[in-house]
Amino acid sequence: MNAQTIGARLTEVLGRIRAAERGNGRPDGSVALVAVSKRHGTEAIRAAYAAGQRAFGENYVQEAMAKQAELADLAIEWHFIGRIQGNKTRQIAEHFSWVHSLCDPHHARRLDAQRPAGLLPLQACIQVNTSGESSKEGLAPEAVADLLAACAPLERVQICGLMTLPAPAQDEPGQRRPLRALRELRDRLATPDRPLAVLSMGMSDDLDAAVAEGATVVRIGTAVFGPRPV
Ligand SMILES: *Cc1c(COP(=O)(O)O)cnc(C)c1O
Repeated sequence: MNAQTIGARLTEVLGRIRAAERGNGRPDGSVALVAVSKRHGTEAIRAAYAAGQRAFGENYVQEAMAKQAELADLAIEWHFIGRIQGNKTRQIAEHFSWVHSLCDPHHARRLDAQRPAGLLPLQACIQVNTSGESSKEGLAPEAVADLLAACAPLERVQICGLMTLPAPAQDEPGQRRPLRALRELRDRLATPDRPLAVLSMGMSDDLDAAVAEGATVVRIGTAVFGPRPV
């Protein structure tokens, strides 16, 4: 996909987000876009950057490190959205602003210890399994309170909200159920000290449903960059 096409697709996605904000009575700009660039090359990232995009999401540490080295001239905000492996926490702590996929207190403590002093605290979302047995991704909803408690003393990792990656659903009610479940879980767990303001949910196929259910961050790959190369 050439640079012009990526720019046009990005504009279209931002228009969809804006329309969904307005359609659901939400303020303009209340939903942020993370452009998911996994398996796409650095030219694709440069094209989206040239069109104004600054936040990019990557799933694989090794792949992300190589891209970050090539793109060191750009002021990109990097989001780690993939499965966390215990032996990769240092690279995540050193090279990302955000991690969306925290589900283990050991990982949280390692990230906290490994976050370099010169950087702002690592912003984090706890990944929740809202799809029951049809998904193995994320923490069971009833386990989230314990992880929040384990993270409360950490100073270099800040829990900002919740994230979910629902099992694909064909119809809109099926799409909305897990998204609503994440919002309701957040509403139950939020306190004045820990508002959990961020809801990271919504991908190319369920973007509109996610904004309707209260997403504050959508993670969009295919709709911006086209199908991922195999
Ligand atoms: C790949 C991926 C996305 C983007 O998915 P698209 O359907 O391409 O928009 C979002 N979130 C996570 C966690 C992903 O792995």
